[in-house]
Amino acid sequence: MIPAVQATVDHHAIAHNVRLLAQASAPAQVIAVLKANAYGHGAVPVARTALAAGAAQIGVATLAEAFELRQGGIEAPIIAWLHAFDPDEAVAVFAEAIASGIELGVSTSSQVRAVAEAALRADQLAVVAVKVDTGLNRGGFARGEWRKAFADLANAEAAGAVQVRGVFSHLANADRPEYRTNAEQARSLREAVSFARAAGLAPELVHLANSPAVLTRPKALVNELPVFNATRPGVAVYGLSPIMGRDFGLIPAMTLTARVGLTKRIHAGDGVSYGHDFVAASDTTLALLPIGYADGLQRALAGKFEVSIGGRRYPGVGRVCMDQVLVDLGPGEPKVREGDTAVLFGPGSDGEQTADDWARAAGTINYEIVTQLRGRVQLRHIHQREPVDQLRHTHHA
Ligand SMILES: *Cc1c(COP(=O)(O)O)cnc(C)c1O
Repeated sequence: MIPAVQATVDHHAIAHNVRLLAQASAPAQVIAVLKANAYGHGAVPVARTALAAGAAQIGVATLAEAFELRQGGIEAPIIAWLHAFDPDEAVAVFAEAIASGIELGVSTSSQVRAVAEAALRADQLAVVAVKVDTGLNRGGFARGEWRKAFADLANAEAAGAVQVRGVFSHLANADRPEYRTNAEQARSLREAVSFARAAGLAPELVHLANSPAVLTRPKALVNELPVFNATRPGVAVYGLSPIMGRDFGLIPAMTLTARVGLTKRIHAGDGVSYGHDFVAASDTTLALLPIGYADGLQRALAGKFEVSIGGRRYPGVGRVCMDQVLVDLGPGEPKVREGDTAVLFGPGSDGEQTADDWARAAGTINYEIVTQLRGRVQLRHIHQREPVDQLRHTHHA
């Protein structure tokens, strides 16, 4: 049975994007960011493709995400940097991470203490990356904490508990390449590294750049390349532009499709779906798609999106319901049949809408469009470039 709603992930596109990011990052190495189930694309399969295409390492937010990758057989270095710190469980959780060979991003002194204790308990060296706040004012050690944090970590290194492998930070305005805070944050990270060295640490990986910084190569960051030797692109791995409207040569990897559940003739003046928000201007045919807001097609998109069926665009009409939505096939003899595949968004290469189109229509960013898919959407992975047409080979017996 073909699922009614599918997000098809093109691994050829992912590999292309990772190669492009590796070239743009060189000589720095790429830490492919696969948090949030690889931005909704499926963490384990994307990890395999990203590593094969040249990513040196994988970055995730949470330890649960890192454990999932290990359980899926991913043996490459993984760093996890966001910890919901439970004082009663932190040591045990960090011990499991250390035993699984997961590099721990640390942002607080309680995390440092728990990691050091966990390393002694696991009887294994904890590999650590120190997250420093250089101006985003979100995670990471605040500037005033740096000296003490590096001193504590140097003690933990001397005790044989931890190895500080990295120092890293995250940008606030990377989508504005020459904005002054990028240079300030780069300078600030370099200072943090010198603090670490002064404390006797020898971090081998220093990283700051996310997708927009890798792709736009702002001078402030490129000048730091002798020090900053890794990058952490996320959204660009999936082929989405981190600056919507700017083309970096990426290929969007995800195509969202739904199969037409039924078609129905209606008459001029008929209202459609809850509230009759849409009223047919003339006799027309509707197609019902079994995807709704419970699957991540936002209600806010009502009347603001179009689907492609058989290479032609049709407007979504009426409210987006929990499980379904309608499209207007127009007054003529409909060319669409039950079971046909409607493309909701994709790379755009065959005239279909893109995640960027949805983002603009819904007043959000492409990051949110792909990560919000859920419910009945099933992921499908393809490893060869497949013409979108094939996704539409739809007239089944
Ligand atoms: C999400 C995230 C990234 C990746 O950001 P993109 O804009 O998707 O490239 C990199 N670093 C950190 C710390 C993140 O949280």
